[in-house]
Amino acid sequence: MRISVVGCGYLGAVHAAGMASLGHDVTGVDVDPAKVALLARGEAPFHEPGLPELLREQVDAGRLRFTTDPSEAADAEVHFIAVGTPQLPDADAADLRFVDAAIEALARHIAPGALVVGKSTVPVGTARRLLDRIRLAQPSASLAWNPEFLREGHAVRDTLAPDRVVYGVVAGERGERDAAILDGLYAGVLAGGMPRMVMDLETSELVKASANAFLATKISFINAMAEVCEATGGDVTMLADAIGFDARIGRRFLNSGLGFGGGCLPKDIRAFQARVEELGSGKSLRFLDEVDKINLRRRKRIARMTRELAGGTIAGRRVAVLGLAFKPDSDDVRDSPALGVASQLRAVGATVRAYDPQANANARRLAPDLDYRGSVLDAVEGAEVVVVATEWSEFRELDPASPELLAAVAHARVVDARNCLDRDAWRAAGWAYRAPGRPAEPDAVATSTSAGALLPALAFAG
Ligand code: NAD
Repeated sequence: MRISVVGCGYLGAVHAAGMASLGHDVTGVDVDPAKVALLARGEAPFHEPGLPELLREQVDAGRLRFTTDPSEAADAEVHFIAVGTPQLPDADAADLRFVDAAIEALARHIAPGALVVGKSTVPVGTARRLLDRIRLAQPSASLAWNPEFLREGHAVRDTLAPDRVVYGVVAGERGERDAAILDGLYAGVLAGGMPRMVMDLETSELVKASANAFLATKISFINAMAEVCEATGGDVTMLADAIGFDARIGRRFLNSGLGFGGGCLPKDIRAFQARVEELGSGKSLRFLDEVDKINLRRRKRIARMTRELAGGTIAGRRVAVLGLAFKPDSDDVRDSPALGVASQLRAVGATVRAYDPQANANARRLAPDLDYRGSVLDAVEGAEVVVVATEWSEFRELDPASPELLAAVAHARVVDARNCLDRDAWRAAGWAYRAPGRPAEPDAVATSTSAGALLPALAFAG
């Protein structure tokens, strides 16, 4: 099929390449000429494992092109909307300006009978409003909502093999036809027996919002337990392992640490609350306000823990922050807890040397006053405390007994803000070790047969 993908960021670029790899003829449209120029050469404008190879392959095969001119996508049968829906600068609600602009541009070019498919995360009720706008311009056109659940760092896999596919469609025959069009588009994805659900537009919008609300709540739940452990001397990683064996609870997304961030969960739980408040049902989601507050408290807690480990004062001390991206395998620093901690430490007078395997350049744009370094050893040189703030495998696999590492730091002190290091190995190598939700001093009787505490980072949802 001939399709367009409007908005080629973290979601759209991967979706465009993924659709081309399924055999469709894809035109990616974005307003950012620099991004379009890179994509058109088959180069990824951000770090996402597997994306450069997929882009190049599809561009070279002639199935995938990129443009800033929406009229070049006028003959598409299906138009995906994948533009950003950030938080408004001065309110909790979503800023729908980009979605509205994308729909206005499409309305000028859309062909008779075409289908617009929303993938951006939008407040409930948006799809129906956009449908009215599209039908005003082209009465035979239709609109469906197909929320996206990809996780940055796993986006290629999640696009081609998602956990489920959800279609929100209009009622009646046209809705059935729209679902059939989407089935045709996703035939290669659905072939393996992937769960596929067809529902009304509003429910499909709510599926995405509630999935993110649930994930955020699960993370803040375990971080609330970390606060309780810190107050009582308990160990949150033991606690998570023990409750996680209960299949009703599950161990995934139960890693206590620095909390969630990125371009999705924080703004999505705020936009969800704002929309439901607008609809007169605000108290149903008031708990999300607490989820947000617990999450933001983690950043302050880690900054405080760093100060404690440095001996009570941080001004003038040299701190190394390892990790700036909001999660590993991504260069995305939007609302990044790691960058937040680095900036807080800098604001109270620490000299912060920071290093991220992929996100230094993006971080520098948001926080130019940090001292960015190109390697772990460079960042930890002379450090009085090392903070591991994003659980990249490069950091998880560091050898705490490495003579170079021990020689580089001024003091062997580490804050494991993500609970991703092997505490015993670091302590055995002579490091003073602190981690959220775990006692400052090890408890000799604490043992677990589960590898839960050392599970590789469980990726945040989009
Ligand atoms: P992004 O900021 O990386 O990308 C958005 C892109 O849209 C940018 O390249 C921007 O230049 C472009 N754009 C803006 N206005 C445009 C217009 N009028 N026409 C064409 N292009 C335009 O954002 P993202 O992370 O890709 O997120 C996009 C949407 O997908 C959001 O609603 C987000 O909540 C949702 N989402 C994101 C993820 C994720 O992991 N990033 C996962 C699921 C859902």
